[in-house]
Amino acid sequence: MNTLKLELHLIPKPCFGFNLRNHLGSQWTKLSKKIRGDRNYICDICNISLPKRNMHLHEVWDFTDGIQKLVGFECVCHICHSVHHWGLSEIQGKNMDFLLKHACKVNNCHDWEFIHHIRDSAEIWEERSRKKWELDLSYMDAIK
Ligand SMILES: [Zn+2]
Repeated sequence: MNTLKLELHLIPKPCFGFNLRNHLGSQWTKLSKKIRGDRNYICDICNISLPKRNMHLHEVWDFTDGIQKLVGFECVCHICHSVHHWGLSEIQGKNMDFLLKHACKVNNCHDWEFIHHIRDSAEIWEERSRKKWELDLSYMDAIK
């Protein structure tokens, strides 16, 4: 399958306790304003432009060899953000059919292709959730 523009970014269970937004406090607010402003409040993924409050800052993490490493930020619309956090969106009772349609449109793929991706991501999530992860926030020093 082709690489998808909009993918699930599931956070392994042992990492649920850490929240970068709380960790950074006011620095997060500043960073969020700056990054979203720099991108003109346009979604990095689907290019939609929505009111500021509907444009979110999303952290991108890499999970390799026991290290949960911050690798970047995305300015995303609330819809793409809900797709990234698919599991959480399900728990929150969001309209999953709507999210699936959005993901398929953005990725230009069939329903079944994205459903495969969901299944694959869930498997990876299960595996990662059985491991311990150490945090690497060195990315924050690089953008200061
Ligand atoms: Zn979007």
